[in-house]
Amino acid sequence: MSWDKVGREDKLLSWKDVMEAEEYVYTVGYAGEEFFKGLKEGKIIGSKCPKCGKTYVPATLYCEDCFVETSTVEVKGRAYLDSFTIIYKDSEGNKLESPQVIGLVRFENAKGGLLAFIEGEPKLGGEVEVIAYDVPLKVRVK
Ligand SMILES: [Zn+2]
Repeated sequence: MSWDKVGREDKLLSWKDVMEAEEYVYTVGYAGEEFFKGLKEGKIIGSKCPKCGKTYVPATLYCEDCFVETSTVEVKGRAYLDSFTIIYKDSEGNKLESPQVIGLVRFENAKGGLLAFIEGEPKLGGEVEVIAYDVPLKVRVK
């Protein structure tokens, strides 16, 4: 692999090349594993800080504010749509058969959020229900 620097020092730099990676093995860590196990069981697993009480979704190993170890908890609060976009073309520029709505779903009393495919008429702040615990989630507007 070779790297050719494009641009000048006072400009944004970019490199164009092909990565020579055939396969990746990505470990999600303990908190990520608990999160993904939860999805298989139809649950949203977050983590709760014993010091400040914040709940994170998806689960994290440590509280980013207190730097203490968290414990896993099931997140059962109301889910709502924080933001969304409508996709008309695939990654290669081909028009989709029907537009796809994808957005960020947040959970009541939890920090963070999850990407989701959205069924129904999207509305910012509108309540949604999880209908498939996949990655991304699939939710329906209530
Ligand atoms: Zn904390």
